[in-house]
Amino acid sequence: MNILLVESNGIKVEDVNSGENVGPIRLFHPKGNLLAITSHLQHVLPEAKVRTLDMKDGEDTKSFKTIKYGDRKLQISFLGKTLRPLEEEVKDTDFLFVTSNFTCETNSVLRVLDHAKKTNSRLRTFIGGSDVMARPDFYKDYVDGVFVGEIESLSEEELRSFLFNSKGIIYAKDNVNMNSLKPDFIGLDISRFKESDEGPLPKWVRSPFLSLETSRGCKRACNFCTTAYLKGRYRYMNLETINKFLDFYKQRGVKSILMIEDNLLSRVQAQTEAEREEGVIEVLAIIDLLKKKGFVWEWANGLEIGLLWNPFKNEVDVRLTEALYSHYGSDEMMVGCVRGYTPLEKLYQNFMNKFKKLVSFDKEKEILKVIASTNVPLIHCGVIIGTPDETEDSIKITEERATEVKELFESSGQTQTYINVFASIPLPGTPDYNNFSKKGALRYSITDSPELWTFTTSVIQGRVFSPENMTRIRVELSDRINGPEAAKYWRKSGKYFTDSMH
Ligand code: SF4
Repeated sequence: MNILLVESNGIKVEDVNSGENVGPIRLFHPKGNLLAITSHLQHVLPEAKVRTLDMKDGEDTKSFKTIKYGDRKLQISFLGKTLRPLEEEVKDTDFLFVTSNFTCETNSVLRVLDHAKKTNSRLRTFIGGSDVMARPDFYKDYVDGVFVGEIESLSEEELRSFLFNSKGIIYAKDNVNMNSLKPDFIGLDISRFKESDEGPLPKWVRSPFLSLETSRGCKRACNFCTTAYLKGRYRYMNLETINKFLDFYKQRGVKSILMIEDNLLSRVQAQTEAEREEGVIEVLAIIDLLKKKGFVWEWANGLEIGLLWNPFKNEVDVRLTEALYSHYGSDEMMVGCVRGYTPLEKLYQNFMNKFKKLVSFDKEKEILKVIASTNVPLIHCGVIIGTPDETEDSIKITEERATEVKELFESSGQTQTYINVFASIPLPGTPDYNNFSKKGALRYSITDSPELWTFTTSVIQGRVFSPENMTRIRVELSDRINGPEAAKYWRKSGKYFTDSMH
């Protein structure tokens, strides 16, 4: 039984006139979800030959189409491998799994499926992933089976039935038990992952990198985020399982870890002080394991920084914050945090009030000051603009506060900061998508132009701003807050700028 799992090509969105990237470009990062699924399939079906093909891992650029975006023309291209390796791999394949996590990659995924089927008409094809969970009906015409849920939750019997008999949409009965996951690097050459693919890092950061997900889901349910709506209740590994994973990573030579979970700190969200303390002790124990085993790490998916405020003592949890962001050692052997993505989300108070996860801006600044005191080398913050109720006033306050945050970090001269200004994007499966669709606020079609669902191009017609205007404002804000050099580097490379101080 030959099973092939495919990560499809990346997408490039480029302004035809200026030649500048309009979206981020992430190709060479370790694909944690693909690894987890491969490992599960191989353990459950030991007689199967399970292989992976990462179509993002290549240098080819293939023009696909253009999109008219206001008075601009955007060139959409596929990035990564050519289709040749896919042809070679699918010849001997019985079952093909393709993941579709990002709406903007829809056409890349469909292209892989179409080409694979043309090469080998005997193939049984399957699809899963976040975007599929939100839009199973859209995908069902392109494959034999659409899987809604986590493949890792399937037992051997369920998996065999799924592979041989399924037709149409199949829903998982339950979420995966995180402690049942087994570490494995099947078919993965980890030496490929020399960087985290988000921009240059300090010289002391060692490779290879690999991702780790010790939890899934979230205790919150923010309107713009798919996590709670698609991944469900919060589940996490116990310390024994985390220890097992870290030992395996260390044995195999992994040096730096991208923590890619949705919300590590949901463990700390609690109704009582005692319950919170239990969660804090658990997180501190995870950090302790990472340090003892000599890893460098990034909070690649971000931390819910509001949870660093202890509501029972009405103060920053300094002990927890310092543990998460600190690093120590010499340039030859540094251990600890190199970079933290910090999702500030909204900075205008009326909008902040709608998010249960956000504390007041004054409290946020207290938290950020403690983070800055750790001298963590890189902090990349995310700020979202462009919901339908955005106004000139809210944009102005957002810019002032974002600039204040950048200065707060950079005043020490130790932490380099980039404030990423994102366009609000209604992701399928979220309340935002349903609400904005109902209000008729979506000016572009998700079926015709899924490539615009990148967080850098707005698709929302607001009360004051058109989507194209909002995209222009987003770029101007990025330039003014971060300085033209860093913002230009982002637009040229799709990655964060790091200057010579590191
Ligand atoms: S706290 Fe973060 S992960 Fe959880 S729902 Fe909100 S945005 Fe998503």
